[in-house]
Amino acid sequence: MADGIQPQPGIMDIALYQGGASQIDGISNVLKLSSNENPLGPSDAAKDAVVRASHDLHRYPSTDHAALRSAIAEVWGVDPARVFCAVGSGDVLKLLAEGYAGPGDEIIMTEHGFSMYPIYARSVGATPVVVPERERVTDVDAILAACTDKTKFVYIANPGNPTGTMIGAAELARLADGIPPQTILVLDGAYAEYVEGYDAGLSLVESRRNVVMTRTFSKIFGLGGMRVGWGYGPQPIIDVLNRIRGPFNLSTPALAAAEAAVRDTAYTEKCRVENAKWREWLATALAESGVPSDTSTANFVLARFSDQAEAQACDAHLRSEGIIVRQVAGYGLPHCLRITVGDESACRRVAHAVGQFKGATK
Ligand code: PMP
Repeated sequence: MADGIQPQPGIMDIALYQGGASQIDGISNVLKLSSNENPLGPSDAAKDAVVRASHDLHRYPSTDHAALRSAIAEVWGVDPARVFCAVGSGDVLKLLAEGYAGPGDEIIMTEHGFSMYPIYARSVGATPVVVPERERVTDVDAILAACTDKTKFVYIANPGNPTGTMIGAAELARLADGIPPQTILVLDGAYAEYVEGYDAGLSLVESRRNVVMTRTFSKIFGLGGMRVGWGYGPQPIIDVLNRIRGPFNLSTPALAAAEAAVRDTAYTEKCRVENAKWREWLATALAESGVPSDTSTANFVLARFSDQAEAQACDAHLRSEGIIVRQVAGYGLPHCLRITVGDESACRRVAHAVGQFKGATK
């Protein structure tokens, strides 16, 4: 590092993001099941919208995202003025930290929470406070016990990543009611659309002044490559986020794709149904090979092995078969592998390879 040029304290303690790999040296037919992407891809309507948007690439994009916010409002029955759009839901989560937290503040997250939460906290100089889960499920009592007068946020993913578990409406309401009034409850709903009948916390957002929800186009909408996410919350919080975001933060093709995707509700439903079907098939096939998992509500399964060595050996075997899954030791789950639910052939291929491995290690 150049003499005298120093980053903010704590920045160099943050590890670089691992896990985006999509290639394995020497293997051509690679199956990537490590980033919870939609195996069916985006809807045709979204792809067509990108082609149409390509005629306007010399223009700056919309700065107020009005068309996308209206589409979201119509489909989900929310107030368009309180919809906030950003570069993936990760960007919404980060902007919340930038807008509300700083040195001396605390941000609560759970033991196996999304790996970026502590980074969002550290990047603004706040302290990540990690609370235990109960058998890989969010523990509301542990969170409430950890709240102090310095707690700016509680970040909860529901469903959780990489656990795939979730807590119900009554527990969420108990959490929202129990946190201090100056603390913001952030309900990260990256996987919410996979859960039939779940409102992603919308009723809590509508009835409280300190609850925000975040959503993404990267998962069920199959638009991870476009980088679009959104948040919904009380007007004063949305106003803060709009002041600190980039004025042209979303590209024209990204806005067009997301708008078309959100309106194509039949396709979203098809993706939800397919995912549920193959998720159950995969979990059952893994269990039959001696690899249990918690009941997942998302588009991945957290496969449990006897210990870290076995999980790593299975991962190595899968790689030799051209399959990339996610090691989750960094999430406090060294004995687990997170496997994205692919399409039928992907599920059959990964289940077969895990079965081969278990047969070989019996
Ligand atoms: N929250 C959770 C729980 C996630 O798993 C992810 C992506 N893996 C994100 C947020 C961020 O996703 P994106 O920025 O693509 O919307």
